[in-house]
Amino acid sequence: MNTERIEWLSKDFTDAKGSTFPVCVARIVGDSPGPTLGLISGQHGMEHTGVHVLRELIEQIDPAVLCGTLLVCPAANPQALLLDYEIYPEREDLSKLDEYFYSRQRHAYCVFALGRSDTKTMYNMNRLWPGKPEHGVAGQITEWIWATLVEPAEVVIDLHCCGNDRPHLLVSWEGHQKVVPLARYFGFRWIKTADHPSEYHKGKLHYQVNQTDRRCFTVEFSRQHGVNYDDIVEGHRGLRNVMRALGMLPGDPSILRPVWWQGAKSTQLAAEAQGHIRFYVGWYEPVAAGQLICEIFDVPTSGKLQEVRAPFAGVVGGLDFRPIACPGETLCWVNDAMRVDVQNPTPPSDDWSAKH
Ligand SMILES: [Zn+2]
Repeated sequence: MNTERIEWLSKDFTDAKGSTFPVCVARIVGDSPGPTLGLISGQHGMEHTGVHVLRELIEQIDPAVLCGTLLVCPAANPQALLLDYEIYPEREDLSKLDEYFYSRQRHAYCVFALGRSDTKTMYNMNRLWPGKPEHGVAGQITEWIWATLVEPAEVVIDLHCCGNDRPHLLVSWEGHQKVVPLARYFGFRWIKTADHPSEYHKGKLHYQVNQTDRRCFTVEFSRQHGVNYDDIVEGHRGLRNVMRALGMLPGDPSILRPVWWQGAKSTQLAAEAQGHIRFYVGWYEPVAAGQLICEIFDVPTSGKLQEVRAPFAGVVGGLDFRPIACPGETLCWVNDAMRVDVQNPTPPSDDWSAKH
């Protein structure tokens, strides 16, 4: 695009180690009026796919066909992205990260012994909305982005990455009525609804945005500490489809595959033997009652040790990441998810609930 059409809003931040760096938001105004969409990625430093998607979107979007305004922050947490680490622990000894990179498959492990889900240090940017400057530079950034990107927007999409084999969406329970009908247009197979029981989790961007009259959902691409290039393509497709649903781009939105909204009923299926796992169903794929999901094979003899079948008709909500089954540990789980890609989705039964 014509780069003269991009206005860059930026602010310098200085962290506890004395480094000064900018956080930048691109403002692109379309030739026609329409809503304002805020897009943000890179809150968590090991989640890079969305950064590429948003950087490329800024390059590619044509203001001549855009109705409305885009506010795009591709790298909300630059210092954490440079570390390839979830948070930027600005007051800690960063040399400890060498230890972390030997153990980074342990997602909940923290070399600073801060825990992950209940830390009082509040380094985690996506626990500091709508802005908590008293907690350090991450909280100062959220305060600025809230004023610069969220407050002018009607809709905000927050791009993250998790470790699942396929990408999914997160919609906070609070505000799901207004968000799910829009989020499904992103076209990912799975919409998960998270509760926010603690003050810590209420600091998430989608929770705070949905407390206002705005709408926000979270995209979770499928790889941390790396880039999934298929996800970049899917991310572009999803963003443009949501923009069509909002009337920001010409054409009708379309949903290319079934989209399932995770229900409250899940059954975990555990391994009874040790051996190689062979899955026959992928993440977020529907299964019939009794359908074979996986088998476990004895490593030395290749003999079959266990068959695992779906206990009811539902959707596979997750599979074990590991190649070797351990007795007693969960192999996969089946969930009573609801299709929401169809028009006017209705719950499949009276007791269906997405509240977990
Ligand atoms: Zn994240």
